[in-house]
Amino acid sequence: MPGYEVIGEEEKTALLEIFSKSNGVMFAHGFDEKRNRIYRVRDFEKQFAQKFKVNHAQAVSSGTTALLATLKALNIGPGDEVITQCFTFVATVEAILAVGATPILTEIDKTFNMDPHDLRSKITSKTKAIIPVHMAGNPARMNELNKIAKEKGLFVIEDTAQAIGATYDNQFMGTFGDFGTFSLDFGKTITTGEGGMVITNNPDLYKAVLEYHDHGHEYNPEVGRADDTRSTWGLNYRMCELNAAVGMAQLKKLDLIVEKSRRNSQYIQKKLSTISGITFRTILPEAQDNGDALYFYFDSEADCSRALISMKTAGLGTKNVPDAMKWHFAGDWEHMFHHHPKYAKTYKNEWEFSTKLLKRTIALPILMAWDGAVLDQHTEKLLSALKLA
Ligand SMILES: *Cc1c(COP(=O)(O)O)cnc(C)c1O
Repeated sequence: MPGYEVIGEEEKTALLEIFSKSNGVMFAHGFDEKRNRIYRVRDFEKQFAQKFKVNHAQAVSSGTTALLATLKALNIGPGDEVITQCFTFVATVEAILAVGATPILTEIDKTFNMDPHDLRSKITSKTKAIIPVHMAGNPARMNELNKIAKEKGLFVIEDTAQAIGATYDNQFMGTFGDFGTFSLDFGKTITTGEGGMVITNNPDLYKAVLEYHDHGHEYNPEVGRADDTRSTWGLNYRMCELNAAVGMAQLKKLDLIVEKSRRNSQYIQKKLSTISGITFRTILPEAQDNGDALYFYFDSEADCSRALISMKTAGLGTKNVPDAMKWHFAGDWEHMFHHHPKYAKTYKNEWEFSTKLLKRTIALPILMAWDGAVLDQHTEKLLSALKLA
């Protein structure tokens, strides 16, 4: 999971340099002389784009505004439908609602991500885009999803908030769609406290995101900020220099974080696989998860409940499933769906397969700090709790 575990001297040094080298905290743009021509947000974007081998990266204020900016850039609004999945963080659906479009939600399959068959059944003449979410670091079936999107002429936005560093065919998630969006909030794999990123290879879509995230500014190199040209309006979703300074230090740690998290997750999975009656979520043969969390499910809800009680007694926690389900599963979203043209009345029973699967699932948080003896101790504790159940 978490970049917050390895926040330390590198991030602190980067922050202090803002005061010693560039005279304090400024906008991401302008004040060229005063700041000694040091631009941290711009540098962070360049490094991010390089790391992901894409042409463009736009830093924004959060993973939520990253999603919002991409939908705006695609000109999606009232009358349009955007398809995502019933198991995601609320933000994915909130972004669709915020532009006035209608969210349509698919079932998940045993990858705990968008089910391509259900996607196909939900596409209408109003569908404009799909947002597959790589939940808890596990890559979605990108080949199939992209194929369907291409066939139907739909845009693809990968919500990669939880899957930075995960790969499919040895290529980073977030680079398969028209856009990849990332969250850099405190709970994610690398963190800037709050923050987000949008990546794309399409120069026109990049330009639209750039403009929307900063009041319509076109960043025209011919003129100064005050005289900047514009053809549309936007809002302020800029990233702050402080966050970018931390982000660059964290980005350098990404490989290490993913490597350790993956190793710990795989180690625990191997040990738990001796227990009968539990099945691990599907990770596609061409994919590598980022070790964010370890998902497994039981044959029945009753078995799962017993395991949870036993884990709780042993002082062991879970990650989102089941502890924060109401923020992650659409069956609990009356507050968003009470006026929904399709789901207003049905949301509780709409996603039968996903509901049944999630009710017998446990997600374990994976920490980097679990090393050597600590990892063994933790795993033993888990093993005995699950065997007792
Ligand atoms: C965290 C998250 C977001 C939102 O990111 P913020 O930076 O917290 O706004 C969006 N989608 C998913 C799947 C997330 O987990």
